[in-house]
Amino acid sequence: MPFSKLGLSDKVLAAVKAAGYPAPTPIQEQAIPHVLTRRDVLGIAQTGTGKTAAFTLPMLTMLETGRARARMPRTLILEPTRELAAQVEESFIKYGAKQKLNVALIIGGVSFDDQDMKLMRGVDVLIATPGRLLDHFERGRLLLTGVELLVIDEADRMLDMGFIPDIERICKLVPFTRQTLFFTATMPPEIQRVTGQFLHNPIKVEVSRPATTVANTTQLLVKSGSKPHEKREILRNLIRSSDSFKNAIIFCNRKTEVAQLHRSLLRHEFSAAALHGDLDQSARTAALDSFRKGDVKLLIASDVAARGLDIPDVSHVFNFDVPHHADDYVHRIGRTGRAGKSGTAITIVSSSDSKSVAAIEKLIGQSIAWMGEPPHAGETEPVETRERPRRGDRSSRGNRGQRGRKPAPAKPREAPPAPVTLLDDARERRPSKPAQEAESFSDSHLPAFLLRPVRVKA
Ligand code: AMP
Repeated sequence: MPFSKLGLSDKVLAAVKAAGYPAPTPIQEQAIPHVLTRRDVLGIAQTGTGKTAAFTLPMLTMLETGRARARMPRTLILEPTRELAAQVEESFIKYGAKQKLNVALIIGGVSFDDQDMKLMRGVDVLIATPGRLLDHFERGRLLLTGVELLVIDEADRMLDMGFIPDIERICKLVPFTRQTLFFTATMPPEIQRVTGQFLHNPIKVEVSRPATTVANTTQLLVKSGSKPHEKREILRNLIRSSDSFKNAIIFCNRKTEVAQLHRSLLRHEFSAAALHGDLDQSARTAALDSFRKGDVKLLIASDVAARGLDIPDVSHVFNFDVPHHADDYVHRIGRTGRAGKSGTAITIVSSSDSKSVAAIEKLIGQSIAWMGEPPHAGETEPVETRERPRRGDRSSRGNRGQRGRKPAPAKPREAPPAPVTLLDDARERRPSKPAQEAESFSDSHLPAFLLRPVRVKA
C-alpha cells in the first residue's frame, strides 16, 4: 500500500516524499490508519522497523488543527533515555518541517529554565523522559490535563530501567479519554499487565524482530584470552585489518570498561569517542554528533546508552565483551547492516564466554562462524560442573558451556526467551527504589535478585 492511501495529510505526504521513503514499512502500514481513527494501538516492534514514523506521521496529521495552550501540552511522548527522546524530536523536525508546531524536549541533565520557557509558550508535542517530566509537574510548571494523545515508547526498556511506577503515575495525570499508542519490543508479564491498564480496546500490530532481519550483516566470533590487554590488542588488530572498514561501534558490558577502552584507543592514536550513562548530557551529545558526522571513527558504548539509536551507515560492530543477555547482542549488531547496506559484527570471545555465546546462537537461530581458528575443547571452560548454580554465587553466572565447534548450518529459530537487559544508564531523577539501587551496582553485574531491597530485622 502506498503512503498516499494511509490517510496522511498533504503536508506530511510531502515530508515523506522528501525523506525518500519508497513505501510504508509494515508497522507504518498497519498502525497509521488506526492511529488516525483515534484507536489505541499496541505496537510490538523494535527500533529499526520504522516505528518512530508510525506514530510521528499520523500525529503530525492530527495536530494540523487546533492550538496549544501555555503549560498544557496537546500530546506527550515518553521515552526511556535522553538520546531516544532527542531522536524522536529530530523526527518531528524532519517530518514536520512544513508545519508550525511547537515541539519541546524535556529530558534530564539540562537546564530546567529553558524547558520551562518552552512549556510556557504552549507545546503541541512534548517528548520527555519520565523523571524530568514528573519534576516539572511537581514544580507546578506543567498541566497534563490537555493531553489528547499519549505515546509510551520502548515500554519494555522502561520496565528494565524501573520506570513503570513513574509511567503509571503519569497515566493517572493525563485524561482517561486520551488516545494511547504503546510500543514495546517484547511482552514480559509486567508489560502485559500494564497494557491492560493503559490501553482501551487496542489494535495490536506486531512486526518481526530484527533478530530475523540481519541478513545483511556478516557475524563472526574471534578467540581471545580473557585479560583486558589481550582483548584490546585483538581489537586493534581487527580494526586495522578489517575489510571495508569505515567506522565502528564497540560495545562493552560495563561503563568503566567503556572509559578504559576509550583511553587505550586514544593512546594508540585511534579516533574514538565514548558513550555511557555516567557522562553528562553534553558529553553524550558531543560523542554521538562527532561519530554521526564522521569526525571520529570509533564509538565505544554501553548497551543502554546506545540502544535504539539510529546511526545510519555503521560498517562494523565489535563486541569487546560478549553481552550477558542474548537480546543485547541482537540490539548491538542491529547498529550495522542498516538500510540495505552490508555490515560486519565481530565478537571477541574468551574461554569464559561459551554459555553466553550459546544463548545468543539459540536466540538468533544460527551458529556464528569463527574468524580464524576456533578454540580447542581444552581452551573453553568445562560444561556445567554443578546441576544448578547457587543463588548469589557470582562465579555461577553463565560461561561454563562447551564450545570450540565449527559453524553448523542455521537451525530453525526457537521462541526467544523474554529478554532481560542490564541497567547502566544514568537516571536523571529519583528513580523507583530497585532501579536506584540497581544503578549504583550496575558495574558489578550482580544478579537482579541481589539488587532488590531487603528487610533487615532489628
Ligand atoms: P525507527 O525504527 O523509527 O528507528 O526507524 C529506523 C530508520 O528507518 C530511520 O532511519 C528512518 O528514517 C527509516 N525509515 C522510517 N520509515 C521508513 C520507510 N517507510 N522507508 C524507509 N526507511 C524508513
